[in-house]
Amino acid sequence: MATKRDYYEVLGLQKGASDDEIKKAYRKLSKKYHPDINKEPDAETKFKEISEAYEILSDPQKRAAYDQYGHAGTDPNYGGAGGFGGGGYGGFSGGGFGGFEDIFESFFGGGGGRSVDPNAPRQGADLQYTIQLKFEEAIFGVEKNIKYNREETCHTCGGNGAKPGTQPVTCHKCHGSGTINVERQTPLGRVMSRQTCDVCHGTGKEIKEPCPTCQGSGHEKKAHEVKVKVPAGVEDGQQMRLADQGEAGMNGGPYGDLYVIFRVEESDIFDRDGAEIYYELPLNFVQAALGDEVNVPTVHGDVKLKVPAGTQTGTNFRLRGKGAPRLRGGGNGDQQVRVKIITPRNLSDEQKYALRKFAEVSGNKINEQQPEGFFDKMKDAFTGKKK
Ligand code: ZN
Ligand code: ZN
Repeated sequence: MATKRDYYEVLGLQKGASDDEIKKAYRKLSKKYHPDINKEPDAETKFKEISEAYEILSDPQKRAAYDQYGHAGTDPNYGGAGGFGGGGYGGFSGGGFGGFEDIFESFFGGGGGRSVDPNAPRQGADLQYTIQLKFEEAIFGVEKNIKYNREETCHTCGGNGAKPGTQPVTCHKCHGSGTINVERQTPLGRVMSRQTCDVCHGTGKEIKEPCPTCQGSGHEKKAHEVKVKVPAGVEDGQQMRLADQGEAGMNGGPYGDLYVIFRVEESDIFDRDGAEIYYELPLNFVQAALGDEVNVPTVHGDVKLKVPAGTQTGTNFRLRGKGAPRLRGGGNGDQQVRVKIITPRNLSDEQKYALRKFAEVSGNKINEQQPEGFFDKMKDAFTGKKK
């Protein structure tokens, strides 16, 4: 819920404002923002805000509570979750109370307010579940059983909340509508306000003997298991909707959905971008210079690759169809193989000899480096720097 504005601020007043000032401010602002007069898109919201502020500040008791505790101190029917959505106004545009419903509907347009018919079926809440997949599982697909708790329709009462053998009855106070109309006198005249029925709390039904399993809620928390067929080729962060695997609906409404989110582990060997797989192939410089046939790992098993003589670092080879499947069909992507030539380290004397010989034959002059640090020390001695 968005932060509520201070009621005094809404009416453009200071905290110690007199009753008269409150009345005047309300009269002025409610005329300005009345949705019958003001056609700006936020007029309705403003008007509701103004009405609510006046509702509290014009009542000495509510005002005192508000002054002391802020919004938390005011009646939850007026300031609770959903703000003023369930309340309202109306009745001044003629037609008496007979036109009340119509006026109410045209003002609120069904948006923001609570559902008009408390007995209408409503879909249950959606749920979310994250599945961890190994790199290969995401590529080839897998079946996973997942378990979670969800609200299900109570098996004892079938969801109506009444003890078996009894039935919920229509609420005697609101006659099943879930709301009651309260008339008030305001400086603008007679105002009707609609509130959630305090007997049935908006359900429109009274349960005389609640079901022993669900205590009247009609739902019970249950462990639920679903088999998820993870399609081949899913990627990290993708999600899948499983219809009806969420929570139970109200008044016989359908179950909500389950959103499964895939988290794919990284591979030590491969990188992946969609259907393309990337692999870095280390070659020693002899293989690269003379050419070779090497085994390249792919997710589909090793593949033989002919490396031509004179291959350089950064050379790319494409292994067609050795990537991941394309999610929307159309076969596999490719595996891209990028060559990285590894310079040998810690050479033996024999290897050094062979390389010097190679350089000599190639006509390359080699000024072999002194042991590490030698030149630095020399340089420091000349510049006078101390290490
Ligand atoms: Zn039950
Ligand atoms: Zn009721």
